[in-house]
Amino acid sequence: MNEFKTVSGIVLQQLKEGIELNGKNCPISGDKGKRVFRITIGSHAMPKYWRKVKEDDYYFCPNKQCPVIYFSKKNTHIFVQEELRTPVMHKMEIGTENRPVCYCMQVLEEEIIEEMVVKHCCDSLIDIQNFTGANKGKDCKITNPTGRCCGKPLKELIEWIQEHKRDDVKPPVLEEAISCCKSIEENASIELELP
Ligand SMILES: [Zn+2]
Repeated sequence: MNEFKTVSGIVLQQLKEGIELNGKNCPISGDKGKRVFRITIGSHAMPKYWRKVKEDDYYFCPNKQCPVIYFSKKNTHIFVQEELRTPVMHKMEIGTENRPVCYCMQVLEEEIIEEMVVKHCCDSLIDIQNFTGANKGKDCKITNPTGRCCGKPLKELIEWIQEHKRDDVKPPVLEEAISCCKSIEENASIELELP
């Protein structure tokens, strides 16, 4: 299996055989990466790696089990959590202490769980948005390490609470989930498709 070094020299081994190195798939897990803006990775990488940020285009690896957060198109630079300033919630298990949910409005998962499970209120996404501020920010491009809206992970969290903590939360609650910055994301995906 191939070995790769991260920007600080941590050695990573590929998670499986035969991963195609095409620049768009994570070199460690093989998952298709999500393209990120330089301002996004620049906001989350430690300043000592900013020079590397400028050297190539970057993708985010969405695989929860994969240690790679960002990889560059030429597969020359890889970032793991230790090389970033921001804890990346997409790589943390639900229920982990201090796991962020909404980076724009600084909402931790604990707050949502407290509203829904301890106080037994916030029975809809609208309530959660209004009481905690989660999913109401507009700065995901810079604050969220994926550069994308927190709507989808928030929906996953509510589903998890429904399954593990509170089965009286009705499924229609989940259907209300809307993106706080859908237009930003749509524009971003259009821009990012450009060569
Ligand atoms: Zn990966």
